[in-house]
Amino acid sequence: MAAYNKVNASDIAYFQRVVGLTNVYHTDDTMEDYSHDEMSIYGIFKPGCVVLPSSTHQVSDIVKYCDEHDLSITTRGAGTGLCGGCVPIHGGVVLSTEKMNQVISIDPFTLTAVVQSGVVLMDFNTKVNALGLLYPPDPGEKSATIGGNVATNAGGMRAVKYGVTRDYVKAIEVVLPNGQIITLGGDITKNSSGYDLKDLFIGSEGTLGIITTITLKLVPLPKMMVSLLIPFDSIEKALSAVPYVMQLPTTATTIEFMEHDVLVDAQDYLGKAFPNKDYPAYLLISYNGDDMDVIRPALDACMKCVMAHDALDVFLSDTSERQDAIWNARGAFLEAIKNSAGVMDECDVVVRPIDVAEFIRHTRFLMGKHHVRIRVFGHAGDGNLHVYVCKDNIPDEKWRGLVNTVMDSLYEKARELNGMVSGEHGIGHAKKGYLKEALDPVVLQLMKGVKKVFDPKRIMNPGKVVD
Ligand SMILES: Cc1cc2nc3c(=O)[nH]c(=O)nc-3n(C[C@H](O)[C@H](O)[C@H](O)COP(=O)(O)OP(=O)(O)OC[C@H]3O[C@@H](n4cnc5c(N)ncnc54)[C@H](O)[C@@H]3O)c2cc1C
Repeated sequence: MAAYNKVNASDIAYFQRVVGLTNVYHTDDTMEDYSHDEMSIYGIFKPGCVVLPSSTHQVSDIVKYCDEHDLSITTRGAGTGLCGGCVPIHGGVVLSTEKMNQVISIDPFTLTAVVQSGVVLMDFNTKVNALGLLYPPDPGEKSATIGGNVATNAGGMRAVKYGVTRDYVKAIEVVLPNGQIITLGGDITKNSSGYDLKDLFIGSEGTLGIITTITLKLVPLPKMMVSLLIPFDSIEKALSAVPYVMQLPTTATTIEFMEHDVLVDAQDYLGKAFPNKDYPAYLLISYNGDDMDVIRPALDACMKCVMAHDALDVFLSDTSERQDAIWNARGAFLEAIKNSAGVMDECDVVVRPIDVAEFIRHTRFLMGKHHVRIRVFGHAGDGNLHVYVCKDNIPDEKWRGLVNTVMDSLYEKARELNGMVSGEHGIGHAKKGYLKEALDPVVLQLMKGVKKVFDPKRIMNPGKVVD
């Protein structure tokens, strides 16, 4: 364990000189929000101070100072993470990118954008959509930053067609743990020039350096999307249809699965009725394109396919009201479950799409065995499940032990199915033990070696991903 200094008054004075008086927080009331992410169940960790730079050079000055003064430093985007990635478990400096929020350029001609890492996803989407362009990654939480998305390699609903954040990052400017500024990748479409350090950084959760500027790939914005809400009499039947849908000539934009009970949670939470909600299980499949002439053959093929594979019906959502009702409910699942449970723990394991049904059966087994409510929904097209273990009225003294037992069993099941610990949320500090269990010890050792090369003093987001 590296020993870190505590932030003192002279450190704060230095940071104030770099970023200005109002851009350093050091009182309890101003730092409270920076002591946890969306999962405060994993602990509240108070920073020594919070620094809000607005330029790469300011970031470099701050990091260099931390390196020279043995201060740990944890980067925070919007704090929407779900595994304690951005919380300062060793105290020290929290560097928030919220003021690094400039969209530097959007070029429709080369389909490229350059942004500072603190740009918020929904603000970026608004700007690129207005120019007839699409940034395809579509993680559920639109108030996350692009830097946070890159640092976690965020996925989302459109991954089945377009891929994940990694697939849209052309270059990143990074501040290394010694304060040096480097650029990885470039505004190019191919690269076979040595080890791909850009891809190493993507998904490294702020443990190797701080991403300051990002060059992103864009695509033309399809003019419309049409969704099919497809009911089944069991989740097994719904998921059994997915491989057939995946074999159709047109790739769906989204293939999501959900069960009736999650819809009820969302309905209660939003206070709005979900259309055609009285079936046990659903697939939600969408296709996008420029007009109905393009989309219609894909919809027809999909309808025929699912009806041949046990669908009970197909509800077409081609009006904005119906699309909004369905997608608003889908977007609210996590918050709705959290709201209904009071306290919950979550995992986002990823398995082969054909193994999702078996994983869900295991969650049912655990519900029965431990008398606990577990909600599941997720991305059927890429095998990524979001599993929520709900505390409800379980007494505090029983809850911690129980949730650990259930989580251990969920991760064990993912291992048995040759799956991975996280499909998109990352490891942070909360899932570190499960990552260690899942990885070949040789691979884990290589990961530790990578960390040591980039950050020999272990000042950069210590205690995350690997020890
Ligand atoms: C309701 C809800 C729905 C969600 N849906 C999805 C989803 O569909 N798909 C998905 O992938 N995730 C989802 N998430 C999780 C979360 O939004 C993502 O992990 C997101 O990428 C985090 O971005 P952030 O800006 O909030 O980062 P933070 O939470 O602040 O940080 C996350 C990690 O990234 C690091 N980091 C942040 N910025 C930088 C930077 N500039 N340089 C280096 N490291 C950095 C942090 O140190 C930390 O380790 C959801 C969360 C919620 C609450």
